[in-house]
Amino acid sequence: MKQVLTLVCKINPTSEQVAQIEATLKAFADACNYANEQVKPQITSKTTIQNLVYQDLRSLFGLSANLAVRACARVGANRKTAKQKNKPVKSFKPTSADYDARIFAFREKDWTISLTLTEGREHIKLDVGNYQQGKLKGKKPTSAQLCKHRDASYYIHIQIKDEVPEPFKPSHVIGVDFGRRDIAVTSNGDKWDGKQITEIRDRYAKVRTSLQKKATKGTRSTRRRTRQILQRLSGRERRFQQWLNHQISYRIIQQAQSTSAIVAIENLTGIRERTNQQPRNKVERRRSNSWAFYQLRSFLEYKGIKEGVEVIAVPPAYTSQTCHQCLHIGLRSDKRFKCGNCGWHGDADLNGAKNISSIGASVSRLRGSGYLCCTLSTDISGLLKAPSLSRGEAYL
Ligand SMILES: [Zn+2]
Repeated sequence: MKQVLTLVCKINPTSEQVAQIEATLKAFADACNYANEQVKPQITSKTTIQNLVYQDLRSLFGLSANLAVRACARVGANRKTAKQKNKPVKSFKPTSADYDARIFAFREKDWTISLTLTEGREHIKLDVGNYQQGKLKGKKPTSAQLCKHRDASYYIHIQIKDEVPEPFKPSHVIGVDFGRRDIAVTSNGDKWDGKQITEIRDRYAKVRTSLQKKATKGTRSTRRRTRQILQRLSGRERRFQQWLNHQISYRIIQQAQSTSAIVAIENLTGIRERTNQQPRNKVERRRSNSWAFYQLRSFLEYKGIKEGVEVIAVPPAYTSQTCHQCLHIGLRSDKRFKCGNCGWHGDADLNGAKNISSIGASVSRLRGSGYLCCTLSTDISGLLKAPSLSRGEAYL
């Protein structure tokens, strides 16, 4: 199996090359906008778009053959995403262009890339550190994006394919509940306390409020200075959260690998986009909107592929109200869960994680564990939905 990693590398073009890069980015964006205006909005196939406007793109914008093909593909892909989200396609800005194997190459000998620009092929120096060098060594990447970032520097985003192990045959499922008070709780009982992050957040929030007061009142230079401090603070908070998410996902995947388990998480993404399924409560709303949970989830998926651990997403319905032992709706008060039917009581997040683990088992290859039969004979509406979940919801 293969995993695709996108490596972001800064490039050091000469001033003549900068002019050509700018011209290429502009031509690419103009071509995309032209294709988007000329081709009927309902058409999303890149081949159809190409059949309709390829000649125009080449003659009007001076694009090379493959850049014109890539522009058609970009418009098609953006239309598909926009359609899914039920939004119109945004106009294309001259900040990125797509490259394939015929117009892009990496040369290890002198650490350069070659790109087809408006005036022809150019070799541009890469500005890479140890990490990128290690990843690029011996590779022959076949696709990339030429980008201009907000810092006005130019970058090449290179796709690298890595061989990863085949997923092993799992014996059980580790359910992961993304936190109410804790950040994450697993069905094994592992827990990552949210206290530290909450404290840090509160501390930053306090500093932020006092700084923001200064920012509105002070002199011009104080205002500028406070804006800088605010920016730095948000970076620190983000880096701490990122570090923590790496630790958590690393541990969970490692444990899954050493005990041959699948990891099941709640599928909260897309809730905002789906009109018929609103987040049911404050916690769900916060979690579906929070980039921190989104990041933790993507780290789990990424590390999972790398280590051959399957990560699947299950629907979030009722995982917090249902008793994991008898599937009756129980009582949840803050951190505690109590079941009136079988009498189980304990940590509410642990109960949630165990439910996620069971639903995970029923939608994964572990089907036939007997769990589904029980759910179907029980009249709890929420869990009856689980069987209709197709494997399409699962990841990998
Ligand atoms: Zn119970």
